[in-house]
Amino acid sequence: MTLVSFDGITVALTEVQDNPAKYARALERAKKVPGHAVCRCLPESPRAPLRLVIRRYGALFHLARWPDDGHRHNAKTCSFYRAVSQPDRSSSDTLAAIRTIAGGLDVKLSTSLSVRTVGQSTRQSSDQTSSGTSRRPAPLLGFLQRVWEDAGLNEWAGAPSRGWGACNAQLLSVLGDGKLNGKSMQDVLHVMRRYDDADSSSVLAEFQSFLDRIVTTPARSNRGLLIAELRSVEPSRYGFVVRLRQTRETFFASKAVIDSAADSFRSAWAMIGDACARVVTLAVIERTKEGNLRIVDCALQLCNSTFLPCDSSFEVAMANRLVAQRRRFVKPMRLERGDAMLPDFRLTDTTVPTAIEVYGMQGNAQYMARKAEKQALYARERTPCVEWVPPDDLASVRLPDGA
Ligand SMILES: [Zn+2]
Repeated sequence: MTLVSFDGITVALTEVQDNPAKYARALERAKKVPGHAVCRCLPESPRAPLRLVIRRYGALFHLARWPDDGHRHNAKTCSFYRAVSQPDRSSSDTLAAIRTIAGGLDVKLSTSLSVRTVGQSTRQSSDQTSSGTSRRPAPLLGFLQRVWEDAGLNEWAGAPSRGWGACNAQLLSVLGDGKLNGKSMQDVLHVMRRYDDADSSSVLAEFQSFLDRIVTTPARSNRGLLIAELRSVEPSRYGFVVRLRQTRETFFASKAVIDSAADSFRSAWAMIGDACARVVTLAVIERTKEGNLRIVDCALQLCNSTFLPCDSSFEVAMANRLVAQRRRFVKPMRLERGDAMLPDFRLTDTTVPTAIEVYGMQGNAQYMARKAEKQALYARERTPCVEWVPPDDLASVRLPDGA
């Protein structure tokens, strides 16, 4: 458990992440004087305290890694830890859809956030017409996965669990004061807060002010983006009703939007409502003429029970087992060309990093060819690899001992 100090108090980091409203005033004071919080993941070094940035996102505050300081945190226990060698993804590429800028991300999404309602189409592509030098836009899933990776949410340091509060705080520290399609990130993208009865009023007010910015006039529709955990999708008289965790607000969606999501994100779709898994959505929301909230496009990311991204139900089972056994591991994200040969998981608590492959699609020729290619690569590079070939029993898979 990582402890953090600010404004004269020392508390568990998870306590702050789970109750941002309760600590808002203390964090606001510390942001002014001395201008930072302190991480206590290692024995104290009075000359060089492990400072943490205090950032505002929306109405509340959260803690973030001090720039270029990630390697000084406790590698085994602290979520602020980041290896020095960890490469940034295409941050120097000026045409990249997602760029890291001072204070957050600068993102160009393929989905329009402001559309003319005259002659409206629900799946309009880019805001601008393209010219030879325009930035290529990111699809919703690509953006969601990139933020997940930048936030370190695809890494597991051996903790017993992780809830939505930690995810929220880690996502916000990546999004920061960024820009999305030229607009202020904080105005257009809301990451659902963990709902807490004791401190609900400021969390609800903040969410309401985000929803209030989603408006449709006769000429224009201003949309909002929401990252949240999906609770359920149910058919109704007029299309579908979508429910999210941490809020009682309901969202509507047309059959076309739901059919497209079910088809595009099959593994995630199949596990909505399954207690072993979690499904995270990045949803584009607009207001109907009647004032209801409607999802006009969305991406779904399947995760295990502790919000580690997974590509299949088998990977969910494997990730849940690794977490239960308190292993340290990474889920490498396949975001760019050249990432295809990354392992499904990588154990980082073994003497040599160990690849874990879940070969769940026996019979698919393309998949089997990739499998053979990977096995040859591991043999050539002498990378230890653990294989699980369902339907073999997961419990029968032997994992190397962790350090
Ligand atoms: Zn730390």
